[in-house]
Amino acid sequence: MNYRHAFHAGNFADVLKHAVLARILAYLGRKDAGYRVIDSHAGIGLYDLAADEALRTGEWRGGVGRVRAARPSPALGDWLAPWLSALRAVNGGDDLLVYPGSPAIATALGRLQDRYHFNELHPQDAATLTALYAGDRRVRVGSEDGYVTVRAQLPPRERRGLVIVDPPFEEAGEFDRLTRAVHDARKRFATGCLMIWYPIKDVAAVDAFLAGAAGAGYPRLIAIEQWVRQPGGDGPLAGAGVLVANPPFTLADETEAILPELTRLLAEDDGAGGRVLRLAEDG
Ligand code: SAM
Repeated sequence: MNYRHAFHAGNFADVLKHAVLARILAYLGRKDAGYRVIDSHAGIGLYDLAADEALRTGEWRGGVGRVRAARPSPALGDWLAPWLSALRAVNGGDDLLVYPGSPAIATALGRLQDRYHFNELHPQDAATLTALYAGDRRVRVGSEDGYVTVRAQLPPRERRGLVIVDPPFEEAGEFDRLTRAVHDARKRFATGCLMIWYPIKDVAAVDAFLAGAAGAGYPRLIAIEQWVRQPGGDGPLAGAGVLVANPPFTLADETEAILPELTRLLAEDDGAGGRVLRLAEDG
C-alpha cells in the first residue's frame, strides 16, 4: 500500500469528486430524516496544505487553489457552494490551510441525526482518522478491505444515504472489484445513492467498467468525467470521473451546464474536456 492521498489532496480530480459529493449531501440534507454515509476508502480526512507531501507535488494549486482564486459565474458559484462551504467550515473562514477529504466534507455538511462509517485499510491512516473523530459520536471508523465494508455495512439502518467507493488504483483488477461493488450495492441497498471515483487513463477499460456497472440494473445511473489534458498519454493523471447511481434528479443537468466553465478553470492545455453520461434513465 504505497498510495497516500496527502500528495494529491485538493487536485483537479478532488475538485470534481468532492463538489459532486457535497451536492449529493446537500440534497440528502433537505429531508429531516437522518442519513448514513459509508466511505469505504476514506483516507485521513483532513490534509494540511503546508505539509511536506502537499508541498512536494503542489497538486492542490492546480485544483482547489485555482477554484479559490477564480471568479466563477453565478451558476458555477451555486454548483460549487456546498463544497466551498465545507472548505470554509474546516478552515474556520476563507483561508486555505487544510483541505477536507471525503470524510471531513461529509461531517462538515452533516447534522446531528446523520451517521458516518468511515473505513481506511492503511493502519496509520486509519489511526489518524480515528483520532480526528474521537470526539464525534456520529462517526465510526473501521480498518478492513473497503470492498468488505460495502457488503457488511449495507443496508444502513436509516435506509437512506450514500456509499462512496474511492480506491487508489494501485493494484491490477480495481475496475473489476468496482464493478462487483456496484452490483453488491444494488443488491443490498437498491434505493441508496452510490458514488464511485475512477481515473481516466485507459479509455477502453473505463468504457468496459461503465457497461458492467450499467448491468447492475440501477434505474438511474450517470457518470461525470473531466480531463485537464487529453487522456491516454504517459505522465500524470489527465482525467477522472465519478459514477453516481440514484443521483439527485437535477445533478446531471446542472453539472452539464457548468462543466465547460469548470473545465476551462482547471485546464492544463487545450486538450481538456468533460462530459456527463446518462447510462440509465427512468424518465
Ligand atoms: N476518499 C478519500 C477522499 O476523497 O478524501 C481519498 C481516498 S484515497 C483515493 C484511497 C485510500 O484508500 C487511501 O487512503 C488508501 O490507503 C486506502 N486503501 C487502499 N487500499 C484499500 C482497501 N483495500 N480498502 C480500504 N482502503 C484502502
